[in-house]
Amino acid sequence: MTIISENFQRIENKIRRVYSAADNKPREKPVLLAVTKNQSHEAIKEALDGGHRFFAENKVQEAQGHWSVMKDNYPDLKLHLVGPLQTNKASDAVALFDCIQSLDREKLARALQDEILKQRKSISCFIQVNTGEEEQKSGLAPSALPAFLQFCREECSLKIDGLMCIPPVDEPAALHFALLKKLAKENNLKELSMGMSADFEKAIALGATYIRVGTALFGART
Ligand SMILES: *Cc1c(COP(=O)(O)O)cnc(C)c1O
Repeated sequence: MTIISENFQRIENKIRRVYSAADNKPREKPVLLAVTKNQSHEAIKEALDGGHRFFAENKVQEAQGHWSVMKDNYPDLKLHLVGPLQTNKASDAVALFDCIQSLDREKLARALQDEILKQRKSISCFIQVNTGEEEQKSGLAPSALPAFLQFCREECSLKIDGLMCIPPVDEPAALHFALLKKLAKENNLKELSMGMSADFEKAIALGATYIRVGTALFGART
């Protein structure tokens, strides 16, 4: 067995363990999104050969290099965008991704709506919430969520399925996961994308339905 497939097995076991011990858990075990940014084609191929089908990228252009051709060979593959999206890349993003987790402003919602109609695709969207209200970070302020959600649904007919957050590096992640869960509950949203290599166990204990793991699966990024 290769190191990467061992890592997948170890992480999947941890997910199962933490999920079965969690209180108030979602109906299904969280989905492991393998984050393949800065990884080689060989590493990606190993994950695919091991049977993994849920992946995430944080840049549209790099994702095209990794997946544009590959995606056609794996019809059951799901690809999520977890990094910031510029409106001028909305067309490429809609063409490639199944889910966009970084929706955070009206201009982007409009651009996505236009492309989804034009390309006749069905795309799942998560709203990224800036739970730490950090100046430099993308995402919507928690207080702006209800109005933005209404805008996305009523003005843009977008399919909004959940929320995503990236906690500040210098604060306990659990506080932010708990806040994201509360916001999802208040707004009737089912999916919660939270937790990365360092803190996915905490996120699962707090109700994550998607975790985003890169380095713990593939090793350090090159
Ligand atoms: C890179 C990245 C991850 C994965 O981070 P690791 O610490 O390598 O697991 C998760 N989410 C986002 C938004 C990322 O950009």
